[in-house]
Amino acid sequence: MRNLDNIYIDGEFVTPKGTETGDLHNPSTEEKIGTVRLAGVEDARDAVAAAKRAFPAFSRTSKAERIDMLNRLNAAAAGRVTDLTQAMALEYGAPQNFTRFAIPHAASSFLTMASVLEDYEFERYRGRARVVMQPSGVAAAITPWNSNIGFITSKLATAIAAGSTIVIKPSEMSATQTQILTECLHEAGLPKGVFNIVNGYGNVVGAELSRHPDIAKVTFTGSTAVGREILRNAADTFKRVTLELGGKGPNIILDDADLDLVIPAALRMGFINSGQACIAGTRVLVPNHRLDEVLARLKQEIETFKVGAPNDPDAMIGPMVSRKHYDRVQSYIELGTKEGARLLTGGPGRPTGLDRGWFTKPTIFFGGDNQMRIAREEIFGPVLSVIAYRDEEEAVSIANDTPYGLQAYLHGTDAARMQALADRLDSGRVVINGAPHEPLAPFGGFKQSGIGREYGVCGLEAFLEPKAVIT
Ligand code: NAD
Repeated sequence: MRNLDNIYIDGEFVTPKGTETGDLHNPSTEEKIGTVRLAGVEDARDAVAAAKRAFPAFSRTSKAERIDMLNRLNAAAAGRVTDLTQAMALEYGAPQNFTRFAIPHAASSFLTMASVLEDYEFERYRGRARVVMQPSGVAAAITPWNSNIGFITSKLATAIAAGSTIVIKPSEMSATQTQILTECLHEAGLPKGVFNIVNGYGNVVGAELSRHPDIAKVTFTGSTAVGREILRNAADTFKRVTLELGGKGPNIILDDADLDLVIPAALRMGFINSGQACIAGTRVLVPNHRLDEVLARLKQEIETFKVGAPNDPDAMIGPMVSRKHYDRVQSYIELGTKEGARLLTGGPGRPTGLDRGWFTKPTIFFGGDNQMRIAREEIFGPVLSVIAYRDEEEAVSIANDTPYGLQAYLHGTDAARMQALADRLDSGRVVINGAPHEPLAPFGGFKQSGIGREYGVCGLEAFLEPKAVIT
Protein backbone atom coordinates (compact mmCIF):
# COMPACT_ATOMS: atom_id res chain seq x y z
CA MET A 1 0.00 0.00 0.00
CA ARG A 2 1.36 3.36 -0.97
CA ASN A 3 -0.21 6.52 0.43
CA LEU A 4 0.70 9.43 -1.76
CA ASP A 5 0.32 12.69 0.05
CA ASN A 6 2.24 15.33 -1.84
CA ILE A 7 1.95 17.55 -4.85
CA TYR A 8 4.68 19.53 -6.61
CA ILE A 9 4.59 23.33 -6.43
CA ASP A 10 7.38 25.87 -6.90
CA GLY A 11 10.10 23.23 -7.17
CA GLU A 12 9.10 21.42 -3.97
CA PHE A 13 7.03 18.45 -2.89
CA VAL A 14 4.39 19.88 -0.55
CA THR A 15 1.40 18.54 1.36
CA PRO A 16 -1.84 19.59 -0.32
CA LYS A 17 -4.13 21.93 1.59
CA GLY A 18 -6.98 19.83 0.21
CA THR A 19 -7.82 16.98 2.55
CA GLU A 20 -9.85 14.62 0.37
CA THR A 21 -8.30 11.27 -0.51
CA GLY A 22 -8.96 8.88 -3.38
CA ASP A 23 -8.28 5.15 -3.61
CA LEU A 24 -5.89 3.62 -6.13
CA HIS A 25 -6.41 0.10 -7.51
CA ASN A 26 -4.58 -2.56 -9.44
CA PRO A 27 -7.03 -3.25 -12.30
CA SER A 28 -5.51 -6.70 -12.92
CA THR A 29 -6.46 -7.89 -9.43
CA GLU A 30 -9.05 -5.28 -8.31
CA GLU A 31 -7.00 -4.85 -5.10
CA LYS A 32 -6.57 -1.48 -3.47
CA ILE A 33 -2.90 -0.53 -3.82
CA GLY A 34 -2.87 2.86 -2.15
CA THR A 35 -4.44 6.24 -1.66
CA VAL A 36 -3.80 9.69 -3.01
CA ARG A 37 -4.39 12.92 -1.15
CA LEU A 38 -6.01 15.32 -3.54
CA ALA A 39 -5.36 18.98 -3.98
CA GLY A 40 -8.14 21.52 -3.64
CA VAL A 41 -8.87 24.87 -5.23
CA GLU A 42 -6.40 26.70 -3.00
CA ASP A 43 -3.59 24.35 -4.07
CA ALA A 44 -4.47 24.96 -7.72
CA ARG A 45 -4.25 28.69 -7.08
CA ASP A 46 -0.86 28.30 -5.32
CA ALA A 47 0.44 26.35 -8.32
CA VAL A 48 -0.77 29.02 -10.75
CA ALA A 49 0.85 31.72 -8.60
CA ALA A 50 4.18 29.84 -8.65
CA ALA A 51 4.01 29.41 -12.43
CA LYS A 52 3.13 33.10 -12.81
CA ARG A 53 6.13 34.19 -10.71
CA ALA A 54 8.44 31.98 -12.78
CA PHE A 55 7.06 33.11 -16.15
CA PRO A 56 8.86 36.47 -16.73
CA ALA A 57 12.37 35.03 -16.33
CA PHE A 58 11.59 31.71 -17.99
CA SER A 59 9.94 33.25 -21.04
CA ARG A 60 13.16 35.20 -21.68
CA THR A 61 15.48 32.16 -21.55
CA SER A 62 17.38 31.44 -24.74
CA LYS A 63 16.78 28.56 -27.10
CA ALA A 64 20.06 27.01 -26.01
CA GLU A 65 19.06 27.15 -22.33
CA ARG A 66 15.70 25.52 -23.05
CA ILE A 67 17.28 22.83 -25.22
CA ASP A 68 19.60 22.07 -22.32
CA MET A 69 16.61 21.77 -19.97
CA LEU A 70 14.82 19.45 -22.41
CA ASN A 71 17.93 17.25 -22.59
CA ARG A 72 18.08 17.11 -18.80
CA LEU A 73 14.39 16.21 -18.58
CA ASN A 74 14.91 13.45 -21.13
CA ALA A 75 17.87 12.03 -19.22
CA ALA A 76 15.91 12.11 -15.96
CA ALA A 77 12.90 10.29 -17.44
CA ALA A 78 14.97 7.84 -19.50
CA GLY A 79 16.90 6.93 -16.35
CA ARG A 80 13.77 5.56 -14.72
CA VAL A 81 12.12 3.71 -17.59
CA THR A 82 11.91 0.52 -15.52
CA ASP A 83 10.22 2.22 -12.55
CA LEU A 84 7.81 4.09 -14.82
CA THR A 85 6.95 0.89 -16.70
CA GLN A 86 6.28 -0.98 -13.45
CA ALA A 87 4.05 1.82 -12.19
CA MET A 88 2.06 1.89 -15.44
CA ALA A 89 1.66 -1.88 -15.31
CA LEU A 90 0.57 -1.89 -11.66
CA GLU A 91 -1.82 1.04 -11.66
CA TYR A 92 -3.14 0.96 -15.22
CA GLY A 93 -2.61 -2.69 -16.26
CA ALA A 94 -0.92 -1.77 -19.54
CA PRO A 95 0.40 -4.87 -21.36
CA GLN A 96 4.08 -5.08 -22.22
CA ASN A 97 3.42 -4.59 -25.94
CA PHE A 98 2.17 -1.10 -25.02
CA THR A 99 4.64 -0.07 -22.29
CA ARG A 100 7.57 -1.17 -24.48
CA PHE A 101 6.64 1.67 -26.84
CA ALA A 102 4.85 4.11 -24.55
CA ILE A 103 7.47 4.70 -21.86
CA PRO A 104 10.56 5.21 -24.05
CA HIS A 105 8.38 7.36 -26.32
CA ALA A 106 7.31 9.46 -23.31
CA ALA A 107 10.91 10.11 -22.33
CA SER A 108 11.90 10.89 -25.91
CA SER A 109 9.24 13.61 -26.27
CA PHE A 110 11.74 15.97 -24.64
CA LEU A 111 14.36 15.16 -27.29
CA THR A 112 11.86 15.46 -30.13
CA MET A 113 10.83 18.90 -28.88
CA ALA A 114 14.49 19.88 -28.48
CA SER A 115 15.02 19.08 -32.17
CA VAL A 116 11.94 21.08 -33.16
CA LEU A 117 13.18 24.01 -31.08
CA GLU A 118 16.65 23.81 -32.58
CA ASP A 119 15.25 24.49 -36.07
CA TYR A 120 12.50 26.91 -35.08
CA GLU A 121 12.83 30.64 -35.83
CA PHE A 122 11.01 32.75 -33.24
CA GLU A 123 11.45 35.83 -35.44
CA ARG A 124 10.64 36.25 -39.09
CA TYR A 125 9.93 39.22 -41.41
CA ARG A 126 6.60 39.76 -43.18
CA GLY A 127 6.63 42.90 -45.36
CA ARG A 128 7.89 45.69 -43.14
CA ALA A 129 7.01 43.83 -39.96
CA ARG A 130 9.25 41.87 -37.65
CA VAL A 131 7.03 39.05 -36.44
CA VAL A 132 7.96 37.66 -33.05
CA MET A 133 6.49 34.41 -31.75
CA GLN A 134 6.01 35.06 -28.04
CA PRO A 135 4.89 32.54 -25.38
CA SER A 136 1.21 33.19 -24.68
CA GLY A 137 1.58 33.02 -20.90
CA VAL A 138 1.15 30.53 -18.08
CA ALA A 139 -0.27 27.26 -19.37
CA ALA A 140 -2.38 24.53 -17.76
CA ALA A 141 -2.33 20.90 -18.87
CA ILE A 142 -5.07 18.43 -17.96
CA THR A 143 -4.46 14.77 -18.82
CA PRO A 144 -6.35 11.43 -18.84
CA TRP A 145 -5.42 8.03 -17.36
CA ASN A 146 -4.86 6.04 -20.52
CA SER A 147 -1.29 7.16 -21.16
CA ASN A 148 -0.68 9.45 -18.22
CA ILE A 149 3.12 9.55 -18.44
CA GLY A 150 3.25 10.27 -22.16
CA PHE A 151 0.65 13.04 -22.06
CA ILE A 152 2.46 14.80 -19.21
CA THR A 153 5.85 14.62 -20.91
CA SER A 154 4.65 15.75 -24.32
CA LYS A 155 2.72 18.72 -22.95
CA LEU A 156 5.53 19.69 -20.59
CA ALA A 157 8.13 19.37 -23.37
CA THR A 158 6.13 21.71 -25.60
CA ALA A 159 5.61 24.29 -22.85
CA ILE A 160 9.35 24.30 -22.06
CA ALA A 161 10.25 24.67 -25.75
CA ALA A 162 7.85 27.61 -26.06
CA GLY A 163 9.12 29.34 -22.93
CA SER A 164 5.85 28.90 -21.03
CA THR A 165 5.58 27.87 -17.43
CA ILE A 166 2.90 25.31 -16.67
CA VAL A 167 0.58 23.75 -14.09
CA ILE A 168 -0.20 20.11 -14.83
CA LYS A 169 -3.26 18.30 -13.49
CA PRO A 170 -2.90 14.59 -14.22
CA SER A 171 -5.71 12.07 -13.93
CA GLU A 172 -6.46 11.42 -10.27
CA MET A 173 -6.46 7.70 -11.18
CA SER A 174 -2.78 7.78 -12.21
CA ALA A 175 -1.20 9.11 -9.01
CA THR A 176 1.42 6.34 -8.63
CA GLN A 177 2.72 6.94 -12.15
CA THR A 178 2.60 10.70 -11.62
CA GLN A 179 4.60 10.41 -8.38
CA ILE A 180 7.50 8.57 -10.02
CA LEU A 181 7.47 10.84 -13.05
CA THR A 182 7.45 13.95 -10.86
CA GLU A 183 10.43 12.60 -8.90
CA CYS A 184 12.42 12.23 -12.12
CA LEU A 185 11.39 15.60 -13.52
CA HIS A 186 12.43 17.21 -10.23
CA GLU A 187 15.90 15.63 -10.64
CA ALA A 188 16.34 17.60 -13.89
CA GLY A 189 16.78 20.73 -11.72
CA LEU A 190 14.67 23.25 -13.64
CA PRO A 191 14.12 26.70 -12.09
CA LYS A 192 11.40 26.57 -9.45
CA GLY A 193 7.86 27.22 -10.55
CA VAL A 194 8.53 26.39 -14.22
CA PHE A 195 6.41 23.27 -13.89
CA ASN A 196 3.99 22.37 -11.14
CA ILE A 197 2.09 19.09 -10.83
CA VAL A 198 -1.13 18.98 -8.86
CA ASN A 199 -3.21 15.82 -8.37
CA GLY A 200 -6.87 16.53 -7.90
CA TYR A 201 -10.37 15.92 -9.13
CA GLY A 202 -11.30 17.32 -12.52
CA ASN A 203 -14.32 19.23 -11.32
CA VAL A 204 -12.19 20.87 -8.58
CA VAL A 205 -8.60 21.43 -9.73
CA GLY A 206 -9.28 20.99 -13.46
CA ALA A 207 -12.20 23.40 -13.37
CA GLU A 208 -10.21 25.98 -11.40
CA LEU A 209 -7.36 25.86 -13.92
CA SER A 210 -9.80 26.18 -16.83
CA ARG A 211 -11.27 29.34 -15.32
CA HIS A 212 -8.29 30.94 -13.60
CA PRO A 213 -7.61 34.45 -15.00
CA ASP A 214 -3.82 33.95 -14.83
CA ILE A 215 -3.90 30.93 -17.10
CA ALA A 216 -3.47 31.98 -20.73
CA LYS A 217 -3.62 28.58 -22.38
CA VAL A 218 -5.16 25.19 -21.59
CA THR A 219 -3.97 22.01 -23.25
CA PHE A 220 -6.36 19.16 -22.53
CA THR A 221 -6.46 15.49 -23.46
CA GLY A 222 -9.55 13.58 -22.43
CA SER A 223 -13.18 13.00 -23.28
CA THR A 224 -15.25 15.15 -25.61
CA ALA A 225 -17.76 15.83 -22.80
CA VAL A 226 -15.11 17.27 -20.47
CA GLY A 227 -13.49 19.11 -23.39
CA ARG A 228 -16.78 20.93 -23.96
CA GLU A 229 -16.92 21.91 -20.26
CA ILE A 230 -13.35 23.21 -20.36
CA LEU A 231 -14.08 25.24 -23.48
CA ARG A 232 -17.03 26.86 -21.72
CA ASN A 233 -15.01 27.62 -18.59
CA ALA A 234 -12.14 29.01 -20.65
CA ALA A 235 -14.38 31.28 -22.72
CA ASP A 236 -14.77 34.04 -20.13
CA THR A 237 -11.08 34.86 -20.23
CA PHE A 238 -10.54 33.87 -23.89
CA LYS A 239 -7.88 31.32 -23.09
CA ARG A 240 -6.06 29.66 -25.95
CA VAL A 241 -7.33 26.09 -25.90
CA THR A 242 -5.96 22.89 -27.41
CA LEU A 243 -8.35 19.97 -27.02
CA GLU A 244 -7.40 16.38 -27.86
CA LEU A 245 -10.62 14.45 -27.46
CA GLY A 246 -12.30 11.20 -28.39
CA GLY A 247 -12.31 9.18 -31.59
CA LYS A 248 -14.10 6.45 -33.50
CA GLY A 249 -11.50 5.76 -36.17
CA PRO A 250 -12.34 4.04 -39.44
CA ASN A 251 -10.04 1.06 -40.09
CA ILE A 252 -10.54 0.65 -43.84
CA ILE A 253 -9.59 -2.59 -45.54
CA LEU A 254 -9.46 -1.97 -49.30
CA ASP A 255 -10.46 -4.56 -51.88
CA ASP A 256 -6.86 -5.11 -53.01
CA ALA A 257 -5.59 -5.77 -49.46
CA ASP A 258 -3.31 -8.71 -48.71
CA LEU A 259 -5.14 -10.19 -45.75
CA ASP A 260 -2.06 -11.98 -44.40
CA LEU A 261 -0.60 -8.56 -43.65
CA VAL A 262 -3.75 -6.57 -43.07
CA ILE A 263 -5.73 -8.64 -40.58
CA PRO A 264 -3.04 -8.59 -37.85
CA ALA A 265 -2.41 -4.88 -38.51
CA ALA A 266 -6.10 -3.94 -38.45
CA LEU A 267 -6.56 -5.78 -35.15
CA ARG A 268 -3.50 -4.13 -33.63
CA MET A 269 -4.92 -0.71 -34.58
CA GLY A 270 -8.35 -1.67 -33.21
CA PHE A 271 -7.12 -3.06 -29.91
CA ILE A 272 -4.20 -0.68 -29.33
CA ASN A 273 -3.69 0.04 -25.61
CA SER A 274 -6.34 -2.59 -24.76
CA GLY A 275 -8.83 -0.54 -26.80
CA GLN A 276 -8.49 2.30 -24.29
CA ALA A 277 -7.14 4.62 -26.97
CA CYS A 278 -8.62 7.66 -28.67
CA ILE A 279 -6.75 6.60 -31.83
CA ALA A 280 -8.11 3.04 -31.92
CA GLY A 281 -9.49 2.01 -35.32
CA THR A 282 -12.76 0.68 -33.97
CA ARG A 283 -14.88 0.70 -37.13
CA VAL A 284 -13.50 -1.94 -39.48
CA LEU A 285 -14.78 -1.16 -42.97
CA VAL A 286 -14.72 -4.14 -45.34
CA PRO A 287 -15.70 -4.47 -49.03
CA ASN A 288 -18.92 -6.50 -49.40
CA HIS A 289 -17.43 -9.08 -51.70
CA ARG A 290 -14.61 -9.88 -49.26
CA LEU A 291 -16.71 -9.81 -46.09
CA ASP A 292 -16.93 -13.58 -45.44
CA GLU A 293 -13.23 -14.00 -46.01
CA VAL A 294 -12.33 -11.08 -43.72
CA LEU A 295 -14.67 -12.26 -40.94
CA ALA A 296 -13.14 -15.74 -41.04
CA ARG A 297 -9.62 -14.29 -40.85
CA LEU A 298 -10.52 -11.90 -38.03
CA LYS A 299 -12.01 -14.75 -36.02
CA GLN A 300 -8.89 -16.82 -36.56
CA GLU A 301 -6.46 -13.99 -35.77
CA ILE A 302 -8.26 -12.86 -32.63
CA GLU A 303 -7.27 -16.17 -31.01
CA THR A 304 -3.69 -14.86 -30.96
CA PHE A 305 -4.69 -11.77 -28.94
CA LYS A 306 -4.14 -13.05 -25.43
CA VAL A 307 -5.85 -11.14 -22.62
CA GLY A 308 -3.94 -10.99 -19.34
CA ALA A 309 -2.09 -9.07 -16.69
CA PRO A 310 1.03 -7.08 -17.59
CA ASN A 311 3.35 -9.62 -15.95
CA ASP A 312 2.39 -12.04 -18.74
CA PRO A 313 4.74 -11.15 -21.62
CA ASP A 314 2.33 -12.70 -24.15
CA ALA A 315 -0.68 -10.64 -23.06
CA MET A 316 -1.73 -8.23 -25.81
CA ILE A 317 -4.81 -6.83 -24.05
CA GLY A 318 -4.85 -5.77 -20.41
CA PRO A 319 -7.72 -4.96 -18.06
CA MET A 320 -10.01 -1.93 -18.20
CA VAL A 321 -8.71 0.78 -15.90
CA SER A 322 -11.48 0.67 -13.27
CA ARG A 323 -14.65 -1.11 -12.21
CA LYS A 324 -16.68 1.84 -13.51
CA HIS A 325 -15.01 1.71 -16.89
CA TYR A 326 -15.32 -2.11 -17.06
CA ASP A 327 -19.07 -1.77 -16.44
CA ARG A 328 -19.33 0.90 -19.14
CA VAL A 329 -17.57 -1.26 -21.74
CA GLN A 330 -19.71 -4.26 -20.74
CA SER A 331 -22.85 -2.18 -21.19
CA TYR A 332 -21.81 -1.37 -24.77
CA ILE A 333 -21.23 -5.06 -25.49
CA GLU A 334 -24.77 -5.77 -24.30
CA LEU A 335 -26.08 -2.80 -26.28
CA GLY A 336 -24.53 -4.12 -29.52
CA THR A 337 -26.57 -7.30 -29.32
CA LYS A 338 -29.73 -5.36 -28.40
CA GLU A 339 -29.20 -3.11 -31.41
CA GLY A 340 -29.15 -6.18 -33.65
CA ALA A 341 -25.44 -6.54 -34.42
CA ARG A 342 -24.08 -10.13 -34.38
CA LEU A 343 -21.14 -11.32 -32.35
CA LEU A 344 -18.22 -12.66 -34.36
CA THR A 345 -16.23 -13.22 -31.20
CA GLY A 346 -16.20 -12.10 -27.56
CA GLY A 347 -19.31 -10.97 -25.76
CA PRO A 348 -20.20 -10.07 -22.18
CA GLY A 349 -18.15 -11.06 -19.14
CA ARG A 350 -14.51 -11.90 -18.54
CA PRO A 351 -12.39 -14.12 -20.78
CA THR A 352 -12.21 -17.77 -19.71
CA GLY A 353 -9.61 -18.37 -17.03
CA LEU A 354 -9.64 -14.82 -15.66
CA ASP A 355 -11.96 -14.71 -12.69
CA ARG A 356 -10.85 -11.41 -11.25
CA GLY A 357 -9.51 -8.17 -12.65
CA TRP A 358 -11.40 -5.85 -14.95
CA PHE A 359 -10.67 -7.92 -18.05
CA THR A 360 -12.99 -7.78 -21.05
CA LYS A 361 -13.25 -10.28 -23.89
CA PRO A 362 -12.00 -8.77 -27.15
CA THR A 363 -15.27 -8.42 -28.98
CA ILE A 364 -16.08 -8.01 -32.66
CA PHE A 365 -19.56 -7.23 -33.93
CA PHE A 366 -20.69 -7.63 -37.54
CA GLY A 367 -23.95 -7.42 -39.43
CA GLY A 368 -24.66 -3.94 -38.06
CA ASP A 369 -24.40 -0.53 -39.66
CA ASN A 370 -22.78 2.82 -39.05
CA GLN A 371 -25.92 4.27 -37.44
CA MET A 372 -25.83 1.95 -34.43
CA ARG A 373 -24.63 3.48 -31.18
CA ILE A 374 -21.81 0.92 -30.98
CA ALA A 375 -20.52 2.37 -34.27
CA ARG A 376 -21.06 6.03 -33.37
CA GLU A 377 -20.04 6.32 -29.71
CA GLU A 378 -16.58 5.93 -28.29
CA ILE A 379 -16.56 2.72 -26.22
CA PHE A 380 -12.89 2.95 -25.17
CA GLY A 381 -12.44 -0.79 -24.80
CA PRO A 382 -11.57 -3.79 -27.01
CA VAL A 383 -14.81 -3.69 -29.00
CA LEU A 384 -14.88 -3.41 -32.80
CA SER A 385 -17.70 -3.09 -35.32
CA VAL A 386 -17.22 -4.57 -38.79
CA ILE A 387 -19.22 -2.60 -41.35
CA ALA A 388 -19.53 -3.67 -44.98
CA TYR A 389 -19.26 -1.21 -47.87
CA ARG A 390 -20.18 -1.41 -51.56
CA ASP A 391 -17.42 0.61 -53.20
CA GLU A 392 -14.77 3.20 -52.48
CA GLU A 393 -17.32 6.04 -52.51
CA GLU A 394 -19.35 4.35 -49.84
CA ALA A 395 -16.24 3.55 -47.78
CA VAL A 396 -15.32 7.26 -47.70
CA SER A 397 -18.86 8.26 -46.88
CA ILE A 398 -19.13 5.79 -43.95
CA ALA A 399 -15.64 6.74 -42.72
CA ASN A 400 -16.59 10.43 -42.59
CA ASP A 401 -20.08 9.84 -41.19
CA THR A 402 -19.09 10.27 -37.54
CA PRO A 403 -18.98 13.12 -35.03
CA TYR A 404 -15.26 12.37 -34.62
CA GLY A 405 -12.20 12.73 -36.87
CA LEU A 406 -8.99 11.87 -35.04
CA GLN A 407 -7.16 9.00 -36.71
CA ALA A 408 -8.11 6.82 -39.69
CA TYR A 409 -6.40 3.71 -41.07
CA LEU A 410 -6.09 2.54 -44.66
CA HIS A 411 -4.92 -0.95 -45.59
CA GLY A 412 -4.23 -1.90 -49.20
CA THR A 413 -1.55 -2.41 -51.83
CA ASP A 414 -1.92 0.59 -54.17
CA ALA A 415 0.06 3.44 -52.61
CA ALA A 416 -1.21 6.16 -54.97
CA ARG A 417 -4.83 5.15 -54.46
CA MET A 418 -4.40 5.28 -50.67
CA GLN A 419 -2.80 8.74 -50.83
CA ALA A 420 -5.79 9.95 -52.87
CA LEU A 421 -8.24 8.35 -50.45
CA ALA A 422 -6.39 9.86 -47.47
CA ASP A 423 -7.07 13.30 -48.94
CA ARG A 424 -10.81 12.61 -48.78
CA LEU A 425 -10.95 11.58 -45.11
CA ASP A 426 -11.93 14.14 -42.47
CA SER A 427 -9.33 12.98 -40.00
CA GLY A 428 -6.41 14.64 -38.24
CA ARG A 429 -4.19 11.70 -39.09
CA VAL A 430 -4.44 8.95 -41.70
CA VAL A 431 -2.17 5.96 -41.15
CA ILE A 432 -1.35 3.85 -44.19
CA ASN A 433 -0.60 0.14 -43.76
CA GLY A 434 0.09 0.38 -40.03
CA ALA A 435 2.85 3.00 -40.34
CA PRO A 436 4.50 3.89 -37.00
CA HIS A 437 3.79 7.06 -35.03
CA GLU A 438 5.50 10.22 -36.40
CA PRO A 439 6.23 12.55 -33.47
CA LEU A 440 7.12 15.51 -35.72
CA ALA A 441 3.75 15.47 -37.52
CA PRO A 442 0.73 17.33 -36.13
CA PHE A 443 -1.68 15.33 -34.00
CA GLY A 444 -5.27 16.29 -33.29
CA GLY A 445 -8.77 15.97 -34.58
CA PHE A 446 -11.43 17.24 -36.93
CA LYS A 447 -14.96 17.87 -35.61
CA GLN A 448 -15.63 16.69 -32.04
CA SER A 449 -12.22 15.04 -31.77
CA GLY A 450 -10.86 18.39 -30.73
CA ILE A 451 -9.45 21.80 -31.48
CA GLY A 452 -5.88 22.54 -32.49
CA ARG A 453 -2.89 20.27 -32.92
CA GLU A 454 -0.07 18.94 -30.74
CA TYR A 455 3.46 17.76 -31.64
CA GLY A 456 6.08 19.28 -33.88
CA VAL A 457 5.96 22.88 -35.03
CA CYS A 458 2.12 22.98 -34.94
CA GLY A 459 2.21 21.91 -31.29
CA LEU A 460 4.89 24.46 -30.42
CA GLU A 461 3.03 27.31 -32.13
CA ALA A 462 -0.09 26.48 -30.13
CA PHE A 463 1.80 27.86 -27.10
CA LEU A 464 2.90 31.03 -28.94
CA GLU A 465 1.29 34.30 -29.99
CA PRO A 466 2.54 36.09 -33.11
CA LYS A 467 3.40 39.74 -32.48
CA ALA A 468 4.04 42.07 -35.41
CA VAL A 469 6.45 44.95 -34.80
CA ILE A 470 6.03 47.34 -37.70
CA THR A 471 8.44 50.09 -38.70
P1 NAD B 1 -11.94 12.57 -18.83
O1 NAD B 1 -12.34 13.57 -19.83
O2 NAD B 1 -12.95 12.00 -17.92
O3 NAD B 1 -10.81 13.15 -17.88
C1 NAD B 1 -9.63 13.71 -18.42
C2 NAD B 1 -9.05 14.67 -17.41
O4 NAD B 1 -9.95 15.76 -17.24
C3 NAD B 1 -8.82 14.08 -16.02
O5 NAD B 1 -7.62 14.61 -15.49
C4 NAD B 1 -10.01 14.61 -15.25
O6 NAD B 1 -9.78 14.71 -13.86
C5 NAD B 1 -10.20 15.97 -15.87
N1 NAD B 1 -11.53 16.56 -15.71
C6 NAD B 1 -12.71 15.93 -15.47
N2 NAD B 1 -13.70 16.84 -15.36
C7 NAD B 1 -13.15 18.07 -15.53
C8 NAD B 1 -13.67 19.40 -15.54
N3 NAD B 1 -14.96 19.66 -15.34
N4 NAD B 1 -12.82 20.42 -15.78
C9 NAD B 1 -11.51 20.18 -16.02
N5 NAD B 1 -10.95 18.94 -16.00
C10 NAD B 1 -11.77 17.89 -15.76
O7 NAD B 1 -11.21 11.42 -19.66
P2 NAD B 1 -10.59 10.07 -19.15
O8 NAD B 1 -11.71 9.15 -18.81
O9 NAD B 1 -9.53 10.35 -18.15
O10 NAD B 1 -9.86 9.58 -20.50
C11 NAD B 1 -10.53 8.95 -21.53
C12 NAD B 1 -10.94 9.93 -22.61
O11 NAD B 1 -9.80 10.63 -23.08
C13 NAD B 1 -11.52 9.26 -23.84
O12 NAD B 1 -12.68 9.93 -24.27
C14 NAD B 1 -10.43 9.41 -24.89
O13 NAD B 1 -10.84 9.40 -26.22
C15 NAD B 1 -9.80 10.67 -24.51
N6 NAD B 1 -8.42 10.71 -25.01
C16 NAD B 1 -8.12 11.53 -26.07
C17 NAD B 1 -6.84 11.54 -26.60
C18 NAD B 1 -6.46 12.44 -27.76
O14 NAD B 1 -5.28 12.73 -27.89
N7 NAD B 1 -7.37 12.88 -28.59
C19 NAD B 1 -5.87 10.73 -26.05
C20 NAD B 1 -6.20 9.92 -24.98
C21 NAD B 1 -7.49 9.93 -24.46
